[in-house]
Amino acid sequence: MEYYKGNPEGGLSPITSKWMHQLFEDQEILKALVEKYGSPINIHHLPTFAQTIASFQDVFQSYGIKHQIFYARKANKCKSLVKQAFASGIGVDTASYNELKQSIALGGNGGNVVLTAAIKTKDQIELAVRNGVAIILDNVDECMLTDSIAKELGVIAKVGIRISGFQVDGKKLYSRFGFDVEKAGDFIQTQIGAENTYSNLLVTGLHFHLDGYSTFQRASGLSASIALAKNMKDQGYPIRFIDIGGGILMNYLESEKQWQEFDLNLRTAVKNNHSNLTFNGNGLGYQLIDGELMGELKTYPYYNKVSGEKFLREILDYSDSETRKSNAQRLIEEELELRIEPGRSLLNQTGITVAKVAHRKKDSKGQWLIGLEMNMSQMMSSSTDFLLDPFVMYAKQTEPQEMIDAFFTGAYCLERDILLKRMIKLPKLPEIGDLVAFVNTAGYMMHFFETEAHLFELSTNLSFSDTPNWPTVLDFLPDEFIEKASVKFI
Ligand SMILES: *Cc1c(COP(=O)(O)O)cnc(C)c1O
Repeated sequence: MEYYKGNPEGGLSPITSKWMHQLFEDQEILKALVEKYGSPINIHHLPTFAQTIASFQDVFQSYGIKHQIFYARKANKCKSLVKQAFASGIGVDTASYNELKQSIALGGNGGNVVLTAAIKTKDQIELAVRNGVAIILDNVDECMLTDSIAKELGVIAKVGIRISGFQVDGKKLYSRFGFDVEKAGDFIQTQIGAENTYSNLLVTGLHFHLDGYSTFQRASGLSASIALAKNMKDQGYPIRFIDIGGGILMNYLESEKQWQEFDLNLRTAVKNNHSNLTFNGNGLGYQLIDGELMGELKTYPYYNKVSGEKFLREILDYSDSETRKSNAQRLIEEELELRIEPGRSLLNQTGITVAKVAHRKKDSKGQWLIGLEMNMSQMMSSSTDFLLDPFVMYAKQTEPQEMIDAFFTGAYCLERDILLKRMIKLPKLPEIGDLVAFVNTAGYMMHFFETEAHLFELSTNLSFSDTPNWPTVLDFLPDEFIEKASVKFI
């Protein structure tokens, strides 16, 4: 048995972890898991998730900042990760009734769960209020609904106010979410609190979540939020936290050079109408219009120099020109708790997706198409393509033959069910039943867009932990059994 990265001599080489390679080397176990649970399977390594959580906690501890991390569970639906989040001492950010209900059932409570749903229904709010879960309010109608539910229940609801519209570089950042930062303070003071219309709401924090991945925008937003929080505290409002949401960048790739080369090659191919780099010459966002290269790469920015903990440090180290103090300093001075809600970046290196080869064929252009037992919705995010080279596991050890150029195709009856739009070079043609692994898929790739067209079953989600010996098939626990888990949460 042997395995190769697709594009062995270059391509886009993903950062991988030891646990992944141990699995690729032990194909018996992967084969047995696919046999037992069908193809594809998603595998999660819980100790890796725990380690990433700890590395974010270390950042805050090194600054001495009061903090709370909420894992944004919309990025992955597994219960095992929610359980691990609680076991690691962090909270969970929920965005629907079911996410909230399930998180509470898995050990969540008013202290470690937050509700940030974009559309808030009565049942969500009621469940949150009954459990003392803080609700992040986005608009006046939500204030009204939450206040009326709190009045009905005879309690005071803890809420945070979502704000947006920060001034950055002389421009206002538009968002469809939240109250305008210039009006939020006034609104809270005149409408919320014991003497006001919304008398059963208690504002304990401010919240924002920005689109995109700019540390500067986040740092500016945090700076403005600290100023607003200070102002409100001076007037006697018990503002305790500022939540800066998620969107912490993640780095997927080993080499900046490969990333730059890929971008250059893609642009050159689109410009010259060469279609051999991607399926049918897909420009992944680049287009040739009247002989000119237009558009931009519409994928996630897979390579990032500043990611994870470094990204967070940049936000904390930023000082604005007025106070000349860093955000970190000001948070400490104002005794404010900083909250973050990372989804993707907390799941870094935590999961892989493994699928079985169903067929190989040559299309009319002479290209190899390798059909996998999985479909496009099982590895899909809002970006145009998943740009990491896959790993192919060959059951039979044979001499590498001539390199082949291949595309991986999926099970939906759509021309566009091409699992990776990039052409992948392989040292030899896989056999039927060989396995293909896509790495680092836990954040958004597995579940966010997964559908059941053709009545295909949803993929099985497995989690495992480190065991004294290398795990056996039984150590990989399907997510539906996680409540009675024998999996160790560390
Ligand atoms: C999506 C979202 C997150 C998580 O974003 P990531 O990019 O996965 O870190 C956190 N908070 C809110 C309010 C969100 O909408």
